[in-house]
Amino acid sequence: MARYDQRLNHQPRPCNITTNFMETADGSCLISTGRTRVICTASVEEGVPPFLRGTGRGWVTAEYAMLPASTGRRKQRDGIKKDGRSVEIQRLIGRSLRQAVDMNRLGERTITLDCDVLQADGGTRTASITGAYVALVLAVNKLMRDGLLEENPIIGQVAAISAGIVEDQPMLDLCYVEDSAAQTDMNLVMNQRGEFIELQGTGEGRAFTNLELNSILDMGRAGIRGLMRIQREALKGQGDWLLPARRIVVATGNAHKLQELSDIFGGMVELISMKDAGFTGDIEENGDSFEANAAIKAEAVARLTGLPTLADDSGLSVDALGGAPGVYSARYAGTHGDDNANNDLLLQNMAGVENRTCRFVCAMALALPGEQTHVVRGECVGELLSERSGQGGFGYDPLFRYRSGKTFAQMTEKEKNAVSHRAAASVKMREIIAGVL
Ligand code: IMP
Repeated sequence: MARYDQRLNHQPRPCNITTNFMETADGSCLISTGRTRVICTASVEEGVPPFLRGTGRGWVTAEYAMLPASTGRRKQRDGIKKDGRSVEIQRLIGRSLRQAVDMNRLGERTITLDCDVLQADGGTRTASITGAYVALVLAVNKLMRDGLLEENPIIGQVAAISAGIVEDQPMLDLCYVEDSAAQTDMNLVMNQRGEFIELQGTGEGRAFTNLELNSILDMGRAGIRGLMRIQREALKGQGDWLLPARRIVVATGNAHKLQELSDIFGGMVELISMKDAGFTGDIEENGDSFEANAAIKAEAVARLTGLPTLADDSGLSVDALGGAPGVYSARYAGTHGDDNANNDLLLQNMAGVENRTCRFVCAMALALPGEQTHVVRGECVGELLSERSGQGGFGYDPLFRYRSGKTFAQMTEKEKNAVSHRAAASVKMREIIAGVL
């Protein structure tokens, strides 16, 4: 079925966030997702509700309303008593946004997030949450700038999107026409760690299967990642420094590799081990290229954890041997990780061979749940010696002479890291991470 606005099923509507839409608020924005438009403001007041007085803790709460002309038919203004739908929605907004704030650091003050729908075309509650987060951060940025807060109270990034099943197909970010025809309708609220804050899902037209639920979650997750990019972009230079780092899992059991990658990518993302992400299984690396193996590892972990995952696969490729040892580098002589035996066999196979050109290759893959995997390749060309030279490094380092004249085993770790295949791949991956996360 073609969608009403020609979008692909997993494609969200264009989202725009205009910050500081109202000069009188502590923080504000106008968020539009497709034709849905919401003004979100954050107002800071000293003091907290009675149940928090004297605790030193702050409070975040929300109000939601639709303007009379925001829907096709005039909607009566909320009177003293709000309609039940608005109450339910504002509670959801408040609950969701409280997850982004450390109330102890906020101190005894209240931030009220007002979400007023100017135009409704489906997804007003999710747009409210995504926009209210931006207004909240802008207000906190002002508090910090004014010297009223000692420590940054923003501990999470929060965004929301809708997804559902329409005419038996999973679809992301439903507009009103799709929403009213949806068999299943779901709202997802998530944080920057890829965790769920709230899921509201109902099989209104018919019950939904586990497979359908999984595809809704995958689409939603990818959509929320996109919205978080838009939030960060909107907050650039006016509060983005308050936001927590995004999380990436590194698909390796090797603590040294995790540390090495943290040194490279730290600052822009928080890297965690597979174990910390809850992944304990084995991954069979049966690809026929470095790229395929890196993607297999990253995708296996991303599929199960739901988190962006980085994996690499590397090895030595010798021209005269048609690329061998290649993907078999670690187990060239039969036993995985037996560097000595691997080097011996390689020297044996290269005895008397004139062309000694070889290269270390590193493929790095970033798997994003619900999106296409990004793979980059870094190479470092050198010459294969006829005997070992140097004490440092690991693997084939003592046989690999770089153009500087030193083998990798004769270089310091810093010298090697400046020119290595992993460094070349990391530079490319840095750009990808900056663009997609
Ligand atoms: P991995 O994919 O990073 O585990 O690397 C597989 C194998 O390739 C290692 O066991 C080494 O034999 C070889 N290798 C990869 N990178 C290097 C390197 O920088 N120096 C030496 N050997 C390497």
